[in-house]
Amino acid sequence: MVEVVDVWLEAGRDGRSFTYADSLGLGVAPGDLVRVPLRGRSMQGLVIARRLATSTDADLGTSLQAVQALLQPAAVDPAWRDWLDAMAIRCHTSPFRMLKAALPPGWLGQRVQPSSAGRRIWWVEALPLSDVGLPPRQAALHALLLERSGEWQRQLQQEGFGSQLMQALERRGAARRELRLAPAVTAAAIQPAAPLDPELPQVLTEEQQRVLEAFAPQPAGGGMLLWGITGSGKTEVYLQLVARELAAGRHALVLTPEIGLIPQLVDRCRRRFGSSVLEYHSGCSDRERVSAWRRTLDTATPLVVVGTRSAVFLPLDPLGLIVLDEEHDSSYKQESPMPCYHARDLALERVRRLGGRVLLGSATPSLETWIQLEPRGPLALARLSRRISSQPLPPVHVIDMRQELQDGHRRLLSRPLMDRLALLPERGEQAVVLVPRRGYSSFLSCRSCGEVVQCPHCDVALTVHGQRPGRQWLRCHWCDHRAEITSACGHCGSLAFKPFGAGTQRVLERLSEELEGLRLLRFDRDTTGGRDGHRRLLERFAAGEADVLVGTQMLAKGMDLPRVTLAAVLAADGLLHRPDLRAGEQALQLLLQLAGRAGRGERPGQVLVQTYTPDHPVIRHLVDGRYERFLEEEEVVRREAALVPFSRACLLRLSGVSASATATAASVLAERLRPLCQASGWLLLGPAPAPVARVAGRSRWQLLLHGPSGTDLPLPPGSALWDALPRDVALAVDPDPLQL
Ligand code: ADP
Ligand code: ZN
Ligand code: ZN
Repeated sequence: MVEVVDVWLEAGRDGRSFTYADSLGLGVAPGDLVRVPLRGRSMQGLVIARRLATSTDADLGTSLQAVQALLQPAAVDPAWRDWLDAMAIRCHTSPFRMLKAALPPGWLGQRVQPSSAGRRIWWVEALPLSDVGLPPRQAALHALLLERSGEWQRQLQQEGFGSQLMQALERRGAARRELRLAPAVTAAAIQPAAPLDPELPQVLTEEQQRVLEAFAPQPAGGGMLLWGITGSGKTEVYLQLVARELAAGRHALVLTPEIGLIPQLVDRCRRRFGSSVLEYHSGCSDRERVSAWRRTLDTATPLVVVGTRSAVFLPLDPLGLIVLDEEHDSSYKQESPMPCYHARDLALERVRRLGGRVLLGSATPSLETWIQLEPRGPLALARLSRRISSQPLPPVHVIDMRQELQDGHRRLLSRPLMDRLALLPERGEQAVVLVPRRGYSSFLSCRSCGEVVQCPHCDVALTVHGQRPGRQWLRCHWCDHRAEITSACGHCGSLAFKPFGAGTQRVLERLSEELEGLRLLRFDRDTTGGRDGHRRLLERFAAGEADVLVGTQMLAKGMDLPRVTLAAVLAADGLLHRPDLRAGEQALQLLLQLAGRAGRGERPGQVLVQTYTPDHPVIRHLVDGRYERFLEEEEVVRREAALVPFSRACLLRLSGVSASATATAASVLAERLRPLCQASGWLLLGPAPAPVARVAGRSRWQLLLHGPSGTDLPLPPGSALWDALPRDVALAVDPDPLQL
């Protein structure tokens, strides 16, 4: 009898098993990654069985093709795969797609060209645009090139941008191509160039010591929340817990939400743990990711991996500890492409099945985590309530912008803020100024009384649609209720009634006009591009190159700069009235996080918040600094209204280049799902345009499903949802979405 192997390969949207002969005698076994031919192409797939040929295989006679190469022995461990299969169900995706998303890029699917190091390949860069009217796909490509400051053509092709599109852009003078030396993978990219000065563990404070002691007896499979205010020394606790795991011969994984925070954390870990430290995140090249993955498979010594959400998949075995720093951060959730997973859910389920323990760290835990605390749920709790430095948390001052307006001051920047900023240089102090804008949709609000126009059915702010003033209207992105934009406030009649929001760029211009001599730096996605952009900008600020750092959300995360004594928020309303169920929770998290940036050194800090709604509960809780009270109140509100996490939600996101085709597909899908929802007690809202209705030349629509917690999604199984969609409309299923 002859033996054959079944190999799982990508076929269309999904995976399928094909049979091959191991005629080269490679000795391949289940779990190996191999290369095989399929319809004239070279594919990489996973061996799922090695077995005796049966009569059906025999029908194929001698025509069975041979496995061509063994790429990675024992790439996939059965228990690890069981965990992934369970997660695939949770994410409403197929086991194959889940596996493909988990493995490093290029491992499953059509084979990408082998080493091109030393060759010259095309590099594409954007040029400044003279005319604005690019067709949608070209505009999307142009935007992407700007965002990444150029990209390899083959990478663009992998992301779906054809070479014709690039040539078209080139002909218009909007892009330039040149042949450049292909990047070679070097060990240097993975190992640091120069060894860092070693760092010894710090002597723990009594509070920190107690956290370590509380974590020690936690059983395998469990988790703990470390609730510590900003500056209370959570990182040191993580590092010492990691050290214990390594000493016990187990691996440790440290996840952080923001890729910009990785360099600091990696340096810190390398000083402590030397060459056992690895990075794994989207800033790594494909080859670096593959090589990190291989090292975790082959290693004989325990490793510390520092990474973003996708590192939760690494096949570290035995994995003793997963740390999720800033566990409340929404970057742990993957929104697109599918699978739309949450790294926290995956981590908790992973240790439950495979062993190890989870430590969630935050100054402002998510409501989801908070209701999972003992005795209500399985999570233990430890607290750090004091800052390491002698400074207390900085006091918060609210500036009522309605009052500013009444006093005839119509500026973006209030007088108290200007006065405070003007003093910075002579005192040798610095400030961070948050402009919460990027990626947020606009809403309509009254500058006189603070009123925001809400949907009459849904209790979320209506969003402003349309580009040109005078040709705009309001829409609800849950139920598609539409309303006209009026010029006067329905509450107080004021004419100071207009769409809300100003970008970082405009704030910077205003600041430099009004406060001459103040040195400014801009900190947002446009200025922190590239692998180290974030770190470089922060280093310049830390070195005193500027007095004020003006930026978006990322400002609030993680920086520890002793000379920063002022943290200010220009337009808190932009956060408070975001049309999102979690707007309040996320606003307070961000604001407390931002407040935590001030007064970390010798000098006391201060927080200034500009808002038109000073009585908003989020602002109240920010001022009194009682996050826990906020959680208690928020829990009551959501429980009574049966909102997540006391119910389930699922978002279906559609996008397409054609606005009408996307809208039609959304209605057709809604009609198909309505009976399924009705039968299982779920509610279907929409279709409605997404809060940001057009992105990179694609129209976006969504359907929102709401149902009782603990029930299954009312969706047809497998790929049935996609089968009925037109080809040029994409659909992503996002179970338990973060943005609602
Ligand atoms: P958090 O992450 O809780 O905001 P950090 O971990 O950034 O706080 O710690 C704040 C500062 O305190 C850092 O500069 C850190 O080096 C310092 N620190 C932490 N623990 C200790 C300790 N036990 N002794 C001395 N300094 C410490
Ligand atoms: Zn009003
Ligand atoms: Zn509505």
